Amino acid sequence: MRFCAALLLLLIATGASAQSAAPAPASGSPEAAFRRLDLPTPNAVRTGSGEPGPRYWQQRADYVIRASLDTTTRSVRGEERITYTNNSPDTLRYVWLHVEQNLFNSESRGYRVFGQDPRFGTKGAEVSVRLLKVGQPAMPAVRARAGAPARPATPASPLHYAVNGTVMRIDLTRPLPPKGAQQLELAWSFPFGANNSRMGVETIDGSTIYEVAQWYPRMAVYDDVRGWNTEQYLGQGEFYLEYGRFDVSLTVPSDMIVAATGTLQNPDEVLTAAQRARLARARAGDQTVVIRGKDEIGDPASRPPTPYPTLTWHFTADSVRDFAWAAARHFVWDAVGVNGGKTLAMSFYPPSADSVWKDATQDAKTALEYYSTQWAPYPYPYASNVNGIEGGMEYPMIVFCHNRTDAVGLYSVTDHEFGHTWFPMMVGSNERLYGWMDEGFNSFMNHYSFPRKFPGQPLPTARGLPETYIKNALSGDEEAIMNPADRMRTNENWRQALYNKPALGLVLLRDHITSPERFDPVFREYIRRWAYKHPTPADFFRTMEDGLGEDLSWFWRSWFYTTDRLDQAVDSVALSDSAGVVSRIYLRNAGQMPMPVELALLMDDGSTQRLRLPVEIWGLRDTYVAMIPGPRKVNSVVIDPDNWYPDVDRSNNRWPAAPTAGVPTPPAQPAPQPAGTTR
Ligand SMILES: [Zn+2]
Repeated sequence: MRFCAALLLLLIATGASAQSAAPAPASGSPEAAFRRLDLPTPNAVRTGSGEPGPRYWQQRADYVIRASLDTTTRSVRGEERITYTNNSPDTLRYVWLHVEQNLFNSESRGYRVFGQDPRFGTKGAEVSVRLLKVGQPAMPAVRARAGAPARPATPASPLHYAVNGTVMRIDLTRPLPPKGAQQLELAWSFPFGANNSRMGVETIDGSTIYEVAQWYPRMAVYDDVRGWNTEQYLGQGEFYLEYGRFDVSLTVPSDMIVAATGTLQNPDEVLTAAQRARLARARAGDQTVVIRGKDEIGDPASRPPTPYPTLTWHFTADSVRDFAWAAARHFVWDAVGVNGGKTLAMSFYPPSADSVWKDATQDAKTALEYYSTQWAPYPYPYASNVNGIEGGMEYPMIVFCHNRTDAVGLYSVTDHEFGHTWFPMMVGSNERLYGWMDEGFNSFMNHYSFPRKFPGQPLPTARGLPETYIKNALSGDEEAIMNPADRMRTNENWRQALYNKPALGLVLLRDHITSPERFDPVFREYIRRWAYKHPTPADFFRTMEDGLGEDLSWFWRSWFYTTDRLDQAVDSVALSDSAGVVSRIYLRNAGQMPMPVELALLMDDGSTQRLRLPVEIWGLRDTYVAMIPGPRKVNSVVIDPDNWYPDVDRSNNRWPAAPTAGVPTPPAQPAPQPAGTTR
């Protein structure tokens, strides 16, 4: 192995010097646009084909949590035992955890970056996590190998820790070797503030809905790419979490209904016999079954008889990277079977949301079954949708959606939030650094899902629409997709770079640069390769190239890494002077971004032709002459007659410049719906 490592170093060194001998092509030149994209050197963890390699590893975090909700003080108090398994080849002397409720006060970094008022703001809250215990349980003696001296058993002890904003470092009393496991015991509490960033409290219909997320101290990701990923939670950038098993017991007032990630383990204790029977009936059928009806709210018979003021709901969940929950006294609750009863979709909402939310469970079923067929089966036994203060946010097996006024808007947000099951709940990328691998991939999926439910309706904002992208590109303020969410200068840049532009890029790649027949199996393969793992952008790019059989360096570079623009132009058409009639179409790539060219031609006999030119024509120079053999002559030309490509200047897309009778006029694009609050 040492020899291999030395050889590898030599090869890298040789390669580097060979590369540095040739001067880099000038930016903006055809050569620069098409040169091979520099990606990290493949290795046994992440291969050159984009697969997890034979030595792929990731850490595991299993949680046992006991928590209670105090509705008088509006606070959560919990204890947890984390079993952290070190699958890395490294010995760890400390570990990092997230304590994200520390965002919500005026001392936080997020407060200074985003202020109080915006969607991710603190809303004037002055709350933070109070750590009541940070320690480890008693540990037995360990003998590393036969004959080696045993390390002595240690009693339960507190551990030294240091909080740094929304992350904290815990120092271990003895190093955690490869394959070793470390148990941590923490106790904490926090009050709910006025904030409603991805969670929060809402009073409606005379009672209160609690949506609880980012609520327990949890492991940061340690990976082969960066070691500990300790980016602060500033508000806008989302999450990067380890997979594991959750065993969570939630103690709440006995008249509350709880919705949560996972499978309820004690239905006999927290549900009535009628509710348990209705749940079984719902799973077996395709019609929505009411589990607790509007007319049953406040009826003591809709809760199991108990002499205690509280009840404990016990949930478990496997292969998840997070756990969220919600509780209210006045939830209407209904359910239906999904995928033949493999999954139960459920909705929880206050009574006044009834007129729109009575269809929410069927909305979930529609979206989940479509994505299951199109991309990969929905993997979990439950899918719950909760109506509360949060506009739209995803967690494993549970989403929070606010819309209670409009059926189209509710479908749109439900479709989007459940779409996140595939990205990032299954395919667990680093959202804080690469939001597009989560929001963009999901918005791409939504691009095709929404019209199946509402054919002919305009697509919701940011689901892969050329018009708003073009507007952003022409604003001069566009930011590259690769910029992290927390560094986006404006909301519109965030919406474009994380949602709309990556979605539009995948629509172009699927429907126009390749084809659905070629693209779909490869996108499925990306999900298969990286489900419950941690892919990077390079792993995605390589997987797509590997399966499509294309070097897409030009596409990844221009679309994802830069703010280059597409501007194709037709300058003129002339007849050749050689023997026989040949029409010469003079084309120009006036922008920096290469793309294939679609042409509609009107011939002198009134007939029309379509011509598709491959992107490689722009690899030589930024002009190209398309030759159309006679005897018919080309009378007029339109580039991209169907408005498929996001060309920022269409005024140079026709020759002659004025529209010609018989040449198709580009169809008017429907205006997008106004911006929603989907995340
Ligand atoms: Zn989203």
